[in-house]
Amino acid sequence: MSNPKSPEQSRESNNTQKQDTKIVNAGRSDKWTNGVVNPAVQRASTVVFDSVKQMKHATANKANQVLFYGRRGTSTSFAFSDAMTELEGGVGCALYPSGTAAITNAILAFVKTGDHILMVDTAYEPTRSFCDNILAKMGVETTYYDPVVGAGIESLIKGNTSLVFLEAPGSLTMEVQDIPAISEIAHRHGCSVLLDNTWASPINLKPFELGVDVSIQAATKYVVGHSDVMLGTATANEAHWPQLRESSYTMGQCTSPDDLYLALRGIRTLGVRMKQHEQSALKVAKWLSEREEVETILHPAFPSCPGHEQFKRDFLGSNGLFSFVVKPEFAKDITAFLDGMHHFKMGYSWGGFESLILAMQNVGAMRTATDWQYQGPLVRLHVGLEDVDDLIEDLAKGFERLAGKA
Ligand SMILES: *Cc1c(COP(=O)(O)O)cnc(C)c1O
Repeated sequence: MSNPKSPEQSRESNNTQKQDTKIVNAGRSDKWTNGVVNPAVQRASTVVFDSVKQMKHATANKANQVLFYGRRGTSTSFAFSDAMTELEGGVGCALYPSGTAAITNAILAFVKTGDHILMVDTAYEPTRSFCDNILAKMGVETTYYDPVVGAGIESLIKGNTSLVFLEAPGSLTMEVQDIPAISEIAHRHGCSVLLDNTWASPINLKPFELGVDVSIQAATKYVVGHSDVMLGTATANEAHWPQLRESSYTMGQCTSPDDLYLALRGIRTLGVRMKQHEQSALKVAKWLSEREEVETILHPAFPSCPGHEQFKRDFLGSNGLFSFVVKPEFAKDITAFLDGMHHFKMGYSWGGFESLILAMQNVGAMRTATDWQYQGPLVRLHVGLEDVDDLIEDLAKGFERLAGKA
């Protein structure tokens, strides 16, 4: 967990830099690097003091970026938290051992028994389980809402609504939410606005400029970028940071400096990786859109994706993750398509350098507030950094297997 820099300080340090320059420099202050390029992996449980005065100073400043106790962080975590706040915005960033832990702890920091929260119907599945199983047990009620509700969110707000949770685009089905419209109304009713911002990573959306109070990342995905670390972050604005920081600390949330080192390494190539993922995924999506087997493309950059207008207005780019729906008459056995892929292996956690594929037969069963209009299976792709023509060939062969021709 890091401490806020004042907004003035962060602006001074790098708001004049263009994004790719910030990606290279974020979090690399001399304080953490000691004159080399990268911060050291500083492992610690115990911090030792030589004098009562030193110990008192550390205790008094334990919420700031000083060495106090391993769980409060070391120079490695301070460097990573700084990097995230410099890229994403906000004033401080709390760290968690997974994206899921970031989501659940960020929600817990802002609700109490008797509250009501609004949760997007297309939330990441474990987020939904947390609401249905843990929050319900604590006496916090959840209402699921349509991701494209926009300003219509107002009619769902009750006297005890304390929090509105967004995820844009929606998990699997990719609907893009109207983040500024929802945030504005939520704030008018005194609610905190939390966003699962994993798809955009810290670089393709500026959540705090759109009214978000806490932006959450499964850093496991593009931040780490190499499919080898579980990590979560929650970055908060000034009004929400102290409560988020102290609540997460009280819950015992902390992360390994080795994992943070890998995440810092991942950040340095985030810009170039994202551009390549984006370019290749757009090419694959365009190719799929011309296939007769494909019913629709659910990629925010395509007009067929609900919320496409909001995507164009608010996002700075896309990435390798999107979905498409196969026409039911072509998909009697989607297994034939999935089995036998060379590059698109089946797996859940995306954001690494490798391509992935996943198919869902019954998307409608995963939601309660909105209907799902398609009969055929949804296929989600993560387009990796392989040569895009090899990837297209892989998919073309999959369609041949689907048609029983291979
Ligand atoms: C993967 C993911 C998470 C959870 O991250 P973990 O690190 O796997 O716990 C949360 N939200 C979204 C949108 C994700 O894709």
